[in-house]
Amino acid sequence: MLSYEQALAIIAANIEPLPPRQVAPADAAGWVAAAKLSCRSNVPPFDNSAMDGFALRAAETQAATDEKPLKLTVIGTVLAGDTGDAVAPGMSSHEIMTGAPVPAGYDAVIPVERVVIERDTEGKPLSIRVSEPIEAGRNLRKAGEDFVAGSPLLAAGELIGPNQIMGLVATGVNTFSARRKPVALAITTGNELADTGKLERGMIRDSNGPYLGAALPGIGADCIGVYRTSDSDRELIDKIEQFKGRVDCVITTGGVSAGRMDFVPRALELMGADILFHRVAIRPGKPALFARLPDGTWFFGLPGNPIAVAVGLRFLVAPALRLLRGMPPEEYRIGTLREPVHKKEGLTFFAKARTATTENGNLEVEVLPGQESFKIKPLMAANCWAVVPADVEALPAGAALRIAGLSGDGS
Ligand code: AMP
Ligand code: MG
Repeated sequence: MLSYEQALAIIAANIEPLPPRQVAPADAAGWVAAAKLSCRSNVPPFDNSAMDGFALRAAETQAATDEKPLKLTVIGTVLAGDTGDAVAPGMSSHEIMTGAPVPAGYDAVIPVERVVIERDTEGKPLSIRVSEPIEAGRNLRKAGEDFVAGSPLLAAGELIGPNQIMGLVATGVNTFSARRKPVALAITTGNELADTGKLERGMIRDSNGPYLGAALPGIGADCIGVYRTSDSDRELIDKIEQFKGRVDCVITTGGVSAGRMDFVPRALELMGADILFHRVAIRPGKPALFARLPDGTWFFGLPGNPIAVAVGLRFLVAPALRLLRGMPPEEYRIGTLREPVHKKEGLTFFAKARTATTENGNLEVEVLPGQESFKIKPLMAANCWAVVPADVEALPAGAALRIAGLSGDGS
């Protein structure tokens, strides 16, 4: 059977990143930079004051003391938004506000609280007394101190969040090349599935649908809708056709195992899909299927057990979404096991787990009781997945293993 790593390699060999588009920073939350970008301009664009105070020449203050304060005439005021053309002759000062351009000639700002001000009847400062030396550069924000024109701004594959948007706008980027979030359609299948409300005998609630609707945004997809079909290939095909051309990826749950009612592979054959793998050596979620529909839409068929859905979404679909977005593979943290774990050799085991940071800063992992793939309650208690490699039957307490966040870092 295909190993987990082989399944990932098949996904990576097939999926190409979505075509990039030009997007405005303000519209780019959740998009991914398609190419590296350099700063177009210096930020700050000009030397400006970091405080409300008085601009002066540091050298003139070096002898100032309480006993022998330096008196400077205040010859003007610069406000934020002024042009910054004011002239600064010697032994003078300008009143200056935070963010205002520093007139050429001054090299420091003394905060308003640190000087004695003589004012005219309207409150305008006439002169100040400075009673301490001030260093050159104090309370100044130099042009280019934050971003230097020509220096790197974004890396290709970088996820755009509010922080990136702030930097893009500040440096004057109008539009840049990026990839949108992939659009996903979720379909749960099963004759036994019911909504909330009274349950008929033999029915269960369709928890996978709302799960997918809630989890997909967390791994970087826009979910176009969550639907349900019975165990009918016709119904499934109709639902998929209804969204033709509007989605990048279809995710189904149920009907993909080896039973007689497991109709999803048959539906895919009827559609003329290319099945790229079916069954992966993972637990839970072994029957997982990956295919390409004739129009190029990607298809993930996950088995119906709730934890198989969570694992398939997190460890097969999430890496595929990263590829569509042009992001590099996810990096996992490493933790150490608190108690030994036992598992079946040959299957990569994704365990519902909890991490805790010990007093000396180690990340300790507890594999939770109740790892069966139908058990949702331990998932509610989990704060991570622990990844136990395929080639071991057991790991001792203290062993290092990979830890994955419950959702990806792809939102
Ligand atoms: P299947 O993969 O269709 O054989 O389903 C495996 C198990 O998962 C069965 O016990 C199903 O009843 C259950 N199951 C399937 N779909 C769902 C769903 N949408 N929500 C909750 N449980 C499900
Ligand atoms: Mg079923």
